[in-house]
Formats: sequence, structure tokens, C-alpha cells
Amino acid sequence: MKKTLQNNRRVALFPGSFDPFTIGHESIVERALPLFDEIVIAIGVNYNKQTLTTAEERLAWIKGIYRNEPRVRVIYYTGLTVDAARECGATYILRGVRMIQDFEYEKNIAETNRAMSGIETVLLYTLPEYGHISSTIVRELVKYDHDVSAYLPRNCDPSLIPSTWKVKK
Ligand code: ADP
Repeated sequence: MKKTLQNNRRVALFPGSFDPFTIGHESIVERALPLFDEIVIAIGVNYNKQTLTTAEERLAWIKGIYRNEPRVRVIYYTGLTVDAARECGATYILRGVRMIQDFEYEKNIAETNRAMSGIETVLLYTLPEYGHISSTIVRELVKYDHDVSAYLPRNCDPSLIPSTWKVKK
């Protein structure tokens, strides 16, 4: 009986760069939690790509945000997203959609992933108030020394925010 229940667990992998993790990402996780038993936030690492934060910093940052949420796990991975999903026992991939470009991009990847592995992609539309928020915008603001508080999850551990970022105290 226990085994059957375990096998029926709905686990979703939420892959992304998360450089950095924003309130837009947080909102997707929050809204998806009632749909799944577990969400695995999977930081895709490409060591050839320049990033604002290291994979280790991103892992610590996101783990800190979900320190009191046992249904959220955080990992990083290299390679194919479907392989990371299989390793975590995830049978769904979770993604967010802000605009038509996101939709077209996600459609191709979702079809490829399903053909390769049978893993379904679940897309959630952004909340209108978060539609303009992206990690790219945060990286730009950091670059020009602007306050980024409004874009970061409220309960992120202040000690993990890089000292060079401008945030309201
Ligand atoms: P990637 O480089 O894989 O797109 P991101 O970290 O930029 O990684 O985004 C991860 C996922 O979160 C993507 O599905 C993206 O569409 C979604 N996302 C990012 N920002 C928002 C937002 N403001 N609202 C909804 N979804 C978002």
C-alpha cells in the first residue's frame, strides 16, 4: 500500500537558470504547490555561460527561501532536463509563461521532452503584476547599482544577498 502511494506521488521539476531567483519564480512555485506533492527546483548549470551568481550561491539562496517548506527541494544539474527529472523521480516539468515568446519557446521544448521521455510540461501563466519581472532585469539593475528589493522574495536570507547589491534594509 505504502509503495503504491509512493509511486503515485506527483513530483514536478522546475528547471531554470534562476540567476537570480525572483518573486516571479517564487510565485510560480507557490501556485504550483497545491498541484504537486513535491517540487524540485533545478538550477541548470552551464559552466561556459557567464552568470551573476555561482551555482552554489543560487543553491544556498533558494534553499534558504524554502527552509520551512519540506515539499520543495533544490538541486543543480548539468545536461538534459529530462535526465534530471528522471533522476528526481519527477514526471512533470513546471515552467512559467509571461509572454508569447515564452509560449513559443516552451512549446518546442515541451514537445521534445515529451517525445523523449513521456514527461509532461505544465505551464502556469504569470500573475499580471509579475509579468515584467525577470532575472535579466535584476541583473541589469545590479549592474547599474539600482535597488533590487522589489524583485527578490521577501523571506530571502539577508546574509545571502551579495554585499554589492543595493537593497532596502
Ligand atoms: P530559463 O533560462 O530556463 O528561462 P529562468 O530562470 O529565466 O530560466 O526562468 C525559469 C522559469 O521561470 C521559466 O519557465 C520562466 O518563464 C519562468 N519565469 C521567470 N520569471 C517569471 C515571472 N515573472 N513570471 C512567471 N514565470 C517566470
